Amino acid sequence: MADKQTRVTNDPFRKYDLTLAERLYLPAIMKGMAVTISYFFKKPITIQYPEEKAYVPHRWRGRHVLKRDEFGRERCVGCQMCELACPADAITIQAGEVPPERRHLHTTERYAVTYEIDMLRCIFCGMCEEACPEAAIFLTPFYEFAEDSREKLIYTKDMLTERIGGPILYKD
Ligand code: SF4
Ligand code: SF4
Repeated sequence: MADKQTRVTNDPFRKYDLTLAERLYLPAIMKGMAVTISYFFKKPITIQYPEEKAYVPHRWRGRHVLKRDEFGRERCVGCQMCELACPADAITIQAGEVPPERRHLHTTERYAVTYEIDMLRCIFCGMCEEACPEAAIFLTPFYEFAEDSREKLIYTKDMLTERIGGPILYKD
């Protein structure tokens, strides 16, 4: 069969004359079917979510958690370094002095009175985690936190802080 270059045409809208097989789209169909059939015998990469969960690497940057130390005290000291480092302005902190009745729950006399992350602004860059001098904030591999309203995606300190003696509750 003559190659495309030798099948010149005078038609200004067509680069070369089509053969009968090309007019019937046979080569293209055969090529497409070959690709389809080759994938038919391969292991599928799709999963049946939500029954099946996707593999998530250990260092995946998902939902945040504010950690406690081994004595159950909040590691966060309200220094606001994470707020400063956040490129998306997603973190809002109000810091204050720890009241006497809460001293046993904190490592220093300063703490985050309120701590909010706007998950709609967050780009999961991990800069807050990098900036934290107390290893208080971490991004976990948890990625299932879709909600039906914007308000529910403003995470408060209560929603972010690890529970005493147990893992963080991702859903109330
Ligand atoms: S992961 Fe990045 S964007 Fe999200 S809160 Fe932390 S610093 Fe901000
Ligand atoms: S999470 Fe870390 S960086 Fe952010 S306010 Fe608390 S101690 Fe400071």
